[in-house]
Amino acid sequence: MLSTITMKLHILGCGDAFGSGGRNQSGYLVEADDKLFLLDCGPTTLLALKRAGFDPQRLDAILLSHLHGDHFGGIAFFFLEYLYIQPRLEPLVIAGPPGTEFKVRALFQLMYGGGTDDKEIPPTRFVVLQPDEPADVNGIAVAPFRVPHQSDAVSLGLKVTYDGKRILFSGDSLWTESLIEHARGVDLFLCECSFYRQQPGMHVNYQALTANLDRLHCKQLLLTHLGEEMLLNRNELSPQVAEDGMVIEI
Ligand SMILES: [Zn+2]
Ligand SMILES: [Zn+2]
Repeated sequence: MLSTITMKLHILGCGDAFGSGGRNQSGYLVEADDKLFLLDCGPTTLLALKRAGFDPQRLDAILLSHLHGDHFGGIAFFFLEYLYIQPRLEPLVIAGPPGTEFKVRALFQLMYGGGTDDKEIPPTRFVVLQPDEPADVNGIAVAPFRVPHQSDAVSLGLKVTYDGKRILFSGDSLWTESLIEHARGVDLFLCECSFYRQQPGMHVNYQALTANLDRLHCKQLLLTHLGEEMLLNRNELSPQVAEDGMVIEI
């Protein structure tokens, strides 16, 4: 049965790790009638969430594509919020690739001196996302798959289904054929496109993306995680490009 429920994606941060163009780092808020969750949580995410008018207390879950700082470094500030400003009523669910719990605790330990003991962080439930093992994360169906971005750790693309709506998030990735397969039929494909031309670094470049555009059968395509050269060529990009503060109806 087709869903008639509207879901919204709020672009809280569509920049790269360098803050290119003054854009916030990775953070995408999915708003459904009864659920609010993040895809990635870069260092600027809490402030962008507040700027967008959301109460952090409403956040049900954070799904992480990988454990680079521009994608998970903001969790420490959510922990502070829940420890000192608003205690959580329900545990925060944090789902990410293997190593997520260790790195999130270590991050908080380094930044604020606590995190190894459960009493030092707000109520949190960690979920490990393994490639090709679908998971139920607080009622959100997540199909994670490995993407080529890190050699020493697992980076994930995330296909997320909630209320009959499907979002594919590439995370950070070199262009890979599996994106075509996973994008088929989704309501929104949020695809990183850091580079304009091919260059060293495991990211999608615009030439590779446009060469495959007619093979991408998704309802909406939105480019994100844009680097400086992409922004210099902003006016000639044909697929829709994310902007901080943008709201997409899904
Ligand atoms: Zn990144
Ligand atoms: Zn990365």
